[in-house]
Amino acid sequence: MSDRVYIFDTTLRDGEQSPGCSMTVPEKLRMARKLADLGVDILEAGFPIASEGDFEAVDAVSREFPWLHVAALARACTLDVERAAESLRRAKRPRIHTFIATSDIHLKFKLKKSRQQVLDEAVAAVELARQHVDDVEFSAEDGSRTDPDYLEQVAKAVVAAGARTVNIPDTVGYSVPEEYGVLIGRMVRALGDCATVSVHCHDDMGLAVPNSIAAVKAGARQVECTINGIGERAGNTSLEEIVMILKTRPDAYPFHTGIQTEHLYSASEMLSSIITFGPQPNKAIVGRNAFAHEAGIHQDGYLKEKSTYEIIDPRSVGVPEGKLVLGKHSGRHALLKRCQELGFHLDRQELDELYHRFVAVADHRKKGLMDEEILALIHEGQSAQHAVAD
Ligand code: MN
Repeated sequence: MSDRVYIFDTTLRDGEQSPGCSMTVPEKLRMARKLADLGVDILEAGFPIASEGDFEAVDAVSREFPWLHVAALARACTLDVERAAESLRRAKRPRIHTFIATSDIHLKFKLKKSRQQVLDEAVAAVELARQHVDDVEFSAEDGSRTDPDYLEQVAKAVVAAGARTVNIPDTVGYSVPEEYGVLIGRMVRALGDCATVSVHCHDDMGLAVPNSIAAVKAGARQVECTINGIGERAGNTSLEEIVMILKTRPDAYPFHTGIQTEHLYSASEMLSSIITFGPQPNKAIVGRNAFAHEAGIHQDGYLKEKSTYEIIDPRSVGVPEGKLVLGKHSGRHALLKRCQELGFHLDRQELDELYHRFVAVADHRKKGLMDEEILALIHEGQSAQHAVAD
């Protein structure tokens, strides 16, 4: 089995569906360019039946980035599949992603359909989608809460009907890693080489990333995820986290992706600037504090040898040096080092004076000081010295 994990980005679909995350077509195009730089394998650009904007976004992304695999979402019914196919008409590498819920809870209360009906509709939707495109993905919505025997039956039937990818979502974020891994392993064995098993997890209990990792270990080779982990409710699997786990711990997880990780930080920043909010400051990989070693003891160790406290080089995910925060717990060593990086070589007395001013400012701050503020303090000190000399 290949160790290559495909990254299916759904920032522009599931991500965009969450409150405060709506994007216009030009915004989606801007984000799509960044996702293309990042090297995502499949880009889900919208749910064309849902709105005119989604339809246009799929069409626009397909035309502008012909080398990308572009996916359009469709419920398992004729109208949706036809609309998705229409939106992908000009795509060079189109994928129709069709779905229907398979759990008894959804069948009984939402769809009011029998298992046989759902199975038939799933197969019919995949067959119809295959009349339009070669690349069809089927999702068994609420798959993690579906009777595994029935899930396997549906999975085999849609593959026989022509689906190349079968996605088993943890739609409501209910599953836990061991259990999800067992379910995914079963599906991987059931489908063999006939289809790629995909996962799509939600973070309602903070387990979207651990569940996705467990699934990869069990044989899933496509992970659906979003930048900053945005998405319905508590969000989706965070793209930057899943990618950096696989990159940082190949000893534990011998798999790789095609992601150019040096674009991760700018992708996160771009998304934050487009939607109405950024990730929390302590968000792994892309949060403002993710690489801020504030405590003096940590900074001292870090400056002597980075590997004492740093497991990921911030440059490998594209964090600009100036974004590393110095706070009131930073020591002289860290301040001296930062000044040197900024091109100032201070003697002991200059450093002492600067350190005093630095602590005085940092003490009243919650946020720490960025490079430009440290530069201002250095200049302040220099003009004070000139004033004395004059
Ligand atoms: Mn979802």
